[in-house]
Amino acid sequence: MITHHDVREACEWAGRVRAAGLSLGLVPTMGALHAGHEALIRQSVKQCDRTAVTIFVNPTQFGENEDLDRYPRSPGEDIELCRGLGVDLVLMGETSGAGSVYPSGAETWVTVDRLSRPLCGRYRPGHFRGVATVVTMLFCMFRPHRAYFGLKDFQQARLIERLAIDLHTGVDVRALPTVREADGLAMSSRNAYLSREERRQALAVPGALEIVEAAFRGGEQRIARLAALLESALRREPGLRIEYAEIRDAATLEEPARSLVGELDDGVVVAVAAHSGSTRLIDNVWLGPRTGAALEEHRE
Ligand code: AMP
Repeated sequence: MITHHDVREACEWAGRVRAAGLSLGLVPTMGALHAGHEALIRQSVKQCDRTAVTIFVNPTQFGENEDLDRYPRSPGEDIELCRGLGVDLVLMGETSGAGSVYPSGAETWVTVDRLSRPLCGRYRPGHFRGVATVVTMLFCMFRPHRAYFGLKDFQQARLIERLAIDLHTGVDVRALPTVREADGLAMSSRNAYLSREERRQALAVPGALEIVEAAFRGGEQRIARLAALLESALRREPGLRIEYAEIRDAATLEEPARSLVGELDDGVVVAVAAHSGSTRLIDNVWLGPRTGAALEEHRE
């Protein structure tokens, strides 16, 4: 496995992979790797001849009062994990200097318009512009055949699928199911911030999503009813500060234009953002006609 810090070397490596007629998979991450990242990497290694993982805490997707400076970092462990999983190249992105991810004087932005506005977009202005820009840059650098993202960040995955199509990148964007801790908490690098008590409170989020999902699987199709279940389940944990808890059309992320889940082609996403202590957590569950098949496809 090769580790590069310079994007120019990574680009050249990717060029050689493509020139040799090999398929290339890309897994973009911000590091502090956990089992959620591992699932994406494993899938890429399985489906592609070569796999590149990028580790870059992208400053442009953090707001002014967010956790850029204290975001968890574990480069040594990340590299060892990648090696063990059969990754071919790790790019440890630099924020400044020659070969850094943003060339000096960079002023080009990528905005995915409507998909960036609701949910996290309302509370984190500029966040998705930062995400869309860095992912586009990574797609340009590596020109991968496939790129792997997690449905844990449902809005992000949707937006990247969109930009991959809109910009004629030719990248096949794969979105994989959320990996959870044994107690149900969605894996996240930010879970490391949680105290015991905050972590206990945080479990109310997957708990509420589970209640909604169980009702749906039990035949409840009415979106208003599912929304009421979500709200009352979250209200039972007063320690949590809920930023949003919403049910949205899974394709557009807009308010559902129908009242039953089954009337929407892609179903709905039940999405929650909440603060436990000072840690912001997001989680979701995707309910709908295609989700079973889509998830099954990734299990092979
Ligand atoms: P991050 O390092 O948090 O930017 O995440 C890098 C990629 O891993 C993104 O595509 C995330 O959606 C994905 N990811 C993060 N946590 C999970 C998880 N618990 N399950 C599946 N994918 C995840």
